[in-house]
Amino acid sequence: MLGLMMAEPLRVATIIEHAAKWHSDTEIVSRRPEGGMHRYTYADANHRSKQLAQALLKLGVENGDRVGTLAWNTHRHFELYYGVAGIGAVCHTINPRLFPEQLVFIINHAEDRLLFFDLTFLPLVERLAPVCPTVEKWVLMAGPEHLPAASDLPGLCSYEDLLAAELGDYQWPSFDENTACSLCYTSGTTDQPKGVLYSHRSTVLHAFGISLPDALSCSASDVIMPVVPMFHVNAWGLPYAAPLNGAKLVLPGAGMDSASLFELFETEGVTFSAGVPTIWLALLQFMREGQRRFTTLNRTVVGGAACPPALMKAFEEELNVTIMHAWGMTETSPLGTTARLKGKHAGLSPAESLGIRAKQGRAVFGVDMKIVGDDGHALPHDGVAFGDLLVHGPWVVRDYFRTATPGELTADGWFRTGDVATIDPDGYMHITDRSKDVIKSGGEWISSIELENLAVAHPAVAEAAVIGVPSAKWSERPLLVVVRRPGMEVSADEMLNFFRGRVAKFWEPDAVEFVNQLPHTATGKILKTQLRKDFAGYSVA
Ligand code: ADP
Repeated sequence: MLGLMMAEPLRVATIIEHAAKWHSDTEIVSRRPEGGMHRYTYADANHRSKQLAQALLKLGVENGDRVGTLAWNTHRHFELYYGVAGIGAVCHTINPRLFPEQLVFIINHAEDRLLFFDLTFLPLVERLAPVCPTVEKWVLMAGPEHLPAASDLPGLCSYEDLLAAELGDYQWPSFDENTACSLCYTSGTTDQPKGVLYSHRSTVLHAFGISLPDALSCSASDVIMPVVPMFHVNAWGLPYAAPLNGAKLVLPGAGMDSASLFELFETEGVTFSAGVPTIWLALLQFMREGQRRFTTLNRTVVGGAACPPALMKAFEEELNVTIMHAWGMTETSPLGTTARLKGKHAGLSPAESLGIRAKQGRAVFGVDMKIVGDDGHALPHDGVAFGDLLVHGPWVVRDYFRTATPGELTADGWFRTGDVATIDPDGYMHITDRSKDVIKSGGEWISSIELENLAVAHPAVAEAAVIGVPSAKWSERPLLVVVRRPGMEVSADEMLNFFRGRVAKFWEPDAVEFVNQLPHTATGKILKTQLRKDFAGYSVA
């Protein structure tokens, strides 16, 4: 027997429609890449998204067509999320920090028909256009006054001109909730980029999921500033969750440096933010240097790479900001787990509670998970046994976009994350490593993440990475690569001594190398594939 409730398909445009109706005067504030601030309301954003939808239809954009973006976190990028998806087309956010060859691969693979870009990226797109033949029209996300005097970009026009020609008297259409709405390629940290094609259904469910109190906890009383870019897994869903909840949204544009971020946190009264560890490590240094304090910021989500407990501790003790550790991937929309305490943890000491909150956390409803051994059998949740992490749920990828090779699914339909983890009896998952980063020494596994977390707890360390280097006796041994804090000194011996007694003897790194900077991926994570190349042939004494 079927239920008798309304069969309303879940659609992304209903989120902005809801915000425009019930939070009509709540603001979206953004820093324009071409200069100056922009400020308007959800009602205005819905209207302009509809103007954009009409412009796209006039240009012949059809259901399922890909519309690419090379853009920062701005109000226009926000309008593209809704305007493109709202007509049944696919908003393909592209990470401009990728190498040009990767960008060309991604644009051609997706066959983007239109490409919207910020002024910052004009020189970049002029190089890309000749080798991206599917793009019929390049749209500069600014007013016509910023168009170059001469350009060979096909169909070049300004975003504001496109919108100005439309009235915005448009009704968002209804269609199957399984229709694709956005496309995001994995950043190719370990492989060629692969496209993850989200649906309206998966996106709306994910926006509900991340809003929950034990997930990211979003509310109409919040001022949310995603520092994670809108081209990095849809800014982790916050451009959907903010209007869904009626929170004010602050978009930092191209100003991702600590000083610019701090200025916006303060002037706009931001309460809640999100970003990868690198951003917060830099911001911590900036706050310490100027003995600065946040007035309104009370929490931030840190994910995308392991958050060092030392960073969590410093933010809480020195800056009064709670770090919520979360795990996810492009393939999981991205939220999978968050490390929030349970009622039973109420009496724990700060150190004990940090021990739990530094794990990657519990499954959010919507994402089931398990760990399996080499034989594919499930391992116990005892916090000790570690194995391949598998996930399952309505916002987890089934197949990659347009690949002949099958996705990463097991025979019984679970997605192989490529991460190695433990799960404790309370359900807290803890990533020991990416399977490709695990160090295998004398048949035993060493967690590079644990060693990195420890290294950054040293006062003279700004950033650290651990990789395996070949060893005749042990097959691999850990090498620690350290970036010192400006003006701070620490010797190799002091650094190695720091591990003594803090980890098992055989986990202690065999050597330390000091570098001026570490290589990072386009999403701000440490690029271990490059580091392994940099130290190829390295031998420990
Ligand atoms: P890419 O695969 O290109 O790096 P993703 O952003 O999809 O792009 O990366 C997902 C991966 O990032 C996860 O599989 C995991 O290895 C790592 N990751 C994400 N969040 C965390 C976290 N909190 N702790 C440890 N690793 C994390």
